[in-house]
Amino acid sequence: MRLIDRSSLLPLAVGIAAALTLAACSAPGSGDSGTTDASAAAPAADASSAAAAPAAPDGPLVVYSERKPPLLDPILAAYTAETGVQIETRIDGADALIERLAAEGANTPADLLITVDAGNLYQAAERDLLAPTSSPVLEANVPANLRDAQGRWFGLSERARTIMYAKDRVDPATLSTYEALAEPQWKGKLCLRSSAKVYNQSLVATMIERLGADATREVLKGWVANLAAPPFADDTLLLQAIAAGQCEVGVTNTYYLGRLIKEDAAFAVAPFWPNQADAGVHVNISGGGVVAASDRPEQAKALLEWLASDTVQAKFAGLNYEYPVKPGMELDPIVSAWGEFKADPVDIAVAGRRQAEAVMLMNEAGWR
Ligand code: FE
Repeated sequence: MRLIDRSSLLPLAVGIAAALTLAACSAPGSGDSGTTDASAAAPAADASSAAAAPAAPDGPLVVYSERKPPLLDPILAAYTAETGVQIETRIDGADALIERLAAEGANTPADLLITVDAGNLYQAAERDLLAPTSSPVLEANVPANLRDAQGRWFGLSERARTIMYAKDRVDPATLSTYEALAEPQWKGKLCLRSSAKVYNQSLVATMIERLGADATREVLKGWVANLAAPPFADDTLLLQAIAAGQCEVGVTNTYYLGRLIKEDAAFAVAPFWPNQADAGVHVNISGGGVVAASDRPEQAKALLEWLASDTVQAKFAGLNYEYPVKPGMELDPIVSAWGEFKADPVDIAVAGRRQAEAVMLMNEAGWR
């Protein structure tokens, strides 16, 4: 079993066809349309009655997405082909999208927000920009620790942030835990990405949850003391630095390695699954939530359900060498070659809840 402590999954009682039965809900002018219970689905409304509506309910479904077009467009095109629902996307960084949602308020054209990292989704929910959504499909397919308890966001793919090592220079038997990378044996051999990246903030947030602030601070100090180079701007550069011999080990998301292996099957870096005797590998999500001010929350929910469905999960994750959130789905061959691992079952909302604390500890440790 790759992942532990998953909520037991109900069989998909609702077929994909049923999941795609869109309640053409339009609530003209409704600002905080948080009503998303299936039983509250409005019958097909007359969109033309939306005379004074800030966003035309009969226009396309609008997705604000941090997930990049090559990873999203083919999926959304398949949804349009299946359902006839037209979709428009606005692509930007999570911070920019969240600020935009907040500034647009009730007038936002957005129906669905998709970001990477639970920390971002948590912040959007904290600012009341996402609507609580109740969905048996989402609750069955998305493990409880990878979605908001109030249904304001749901993981759609899983991203493991793990230890990477130079295959030709590091014996994986010398690796064990994230914490052990702070030990003197890795002095001058470790590479890290910038602490400004939310991925690292989320990793540290889960460490604080698990180890406490004092122990985490010591680990971070050890990591900084072991750095072979100043922190990298992105995971790809870091992996290339390991391959090139600048560092022996590092911490990155696995899909960046997947992309590099796709380009060059001989790329000489491999993932190591740490903490298998205790917490497990840190996994984060890309995911989405229904926008609180959406004028068609039922349609937005239907798209979310479709993204979490059996038929779409493998493709959604596979396009980026990630892991489906729904267990048991097929993996890309590059990904499955890395083997199974135990994932940290922590409630990933902690990535947001402890983000400020994580940033503070990283600063204290001198992690730039
Ligand atoms: Fe990324």
